[in-house]
Amino acid sequence: MTSTAVTDGSTSALSLVVQKFGGTSVADPDRIRAVADHVARTRRDGHDVVVVVSAMGKTTDELIRLAQDVCPEPGGREMDMLLTAGERISMALLCMAIETEGVPAASFTGSQAGIVTDTVHGKARILEVRGDRLREAIANGQVAVVAGFQGVSTERDVTTLGRGGSDTTAVALAAVLKAEVCEIYTDVAGVYTADPRVVPNARRLPAVSFEEMQEMAATGGRVLALRSVEFARNHGVVLHVRSSFTWEQGTWVNEEGPMEQAIISGVTHDTSEAKITVTHVPDQPGIAARLFGALADDEVNVDMIVQNTSTGGTTDISFTVPRADLAAAMRVSEALGPEIGAESVTHDAEIGRVSIVGAGMKTNPGVAARMFRVLSTEGVNIEMISTSSIRISCVVRARDVERAVKALHAEFELDKPLA
Ligand code: ADP
Ligand code: ASP
Ligand code: MG
Repeated sequence: MTSTAVTDGSTSALSLVVQKFGGTSVADPDRIRAVADHVARTRRDGHDVVVVVSAMGKTTDELIRLAQDVCPEPGGREMDMLLTAGERISMALLCMAIETEGVPAASFTGSQAGIVTDTVHGKARILEVRGDRLREAIANGQVAVVAGFQGVSTERDVTTLGRGGSDTTAVALAAVLKAEVCEIYTDVAGVYTADPRVVPNARRLPAVSFEEMQEMAATGGRVLALRSVEFARNHGVVLHVRSSFTWEQGTWVNEEGPMEQAIISGVTHDTSEAKITVTHVPDQPGIAARLFGALADDEVNVDMIVQNTSTGGTTDISFTVPRADLAAAMRVSEALGPEIGAESVTHDAEIGRVSIVGAGMKTNPGVAARMFRVLSTEGVNIEMISTSSIRISCVVRARDVERAVKALHAEFELDKPLA
């Protein structure tokens, strides 16, 4: 078998490539044609190609708004039925555009692609990927174009995988089809040291380890959905995050990460969470278990948790949840409040979180102190702190988040390439 040029200029034997295109990459007919041209070229280079698409542009947001216009709290089943329509449109249009290039292609919904999920509407988890129809299409010489972000539940209902879930579809298919690489095409040229929209001099990272990428995705670096990174890490799927506008080399996400490890690889931020505080609960075994057990039963994703030291036998517990889950989390907490002896349950939606992530902090003491000093110099008050071995996160006022990100990026000299 001859060696052929891959689209990024390197060479390899014929192989299967999964290419995922986000909303901006297929936002209008011109963009769809540009993507079709790229897919067709990859195919002509001799690769088998499975494409995963998101809904065009801001379609998903528009559909959510439409739903809210007709119903204050739409049910999960109908919401998923509605939202999955977005990806159906883009997959069909992209297929037509690829066929216009003279390359055979066929589109598949998540269900047709064999993506089986649990029954949790709005944030379903993939249980199994069958993929036989995709294998058949590939064997017939077709490009398989799959609708991202969707699956079919064990109860045979259409489900969605959570916002940004097309990344997860792409990685799951890459794992099951044993793709050589899963290329994530987006509107930036890779994973940067901070969101380039907030820090214009942020630098593109040539490579990031799964471990660091997972922490970045978990703390607001939305260029990759968290579950897609978890999936890639568990199944050893190599990711290449790159631009569908310039097609240049982007960021490789793999087990090893960069050749040279900086202390800090990136600064992330997240303003999509809210904080709930349950006050004056008795400082006794079992209280936290009941509270967080009830939240888990309601599928609320709790993120940071802080319990104060007790005074007079009672304590306050604060925790953060996605703002989308705030109403459900408040309902559960308020209902349980009297039972666990809480004095009050309050919430605060004006919080934000800023985090620094870097495997280098394992071997460099004093990183936390440096972060707190920068925030203090900026007059930013820290409300909660949480850490992992390679991450430090601070909850601050939402209005302070961008200033904090810029200051931290400058403090750790992330705009400068490693010497
Ligand atoms: P897509 O629709 O292609 O999935 P997303 O909007 O989900 O695109 O993700 C790309 C966006 O992620 C970028 O436009 C950028 O603003 C944002 N982003 C946040 N943090 C980072 C980061 N560290 N590196 C790159 N992009 C980031
Ligand atoms: N269209 C979905 C969203 O906007 C899924 C995705 O784009 O990955 O969240
Ligand atoms: Mg995305």
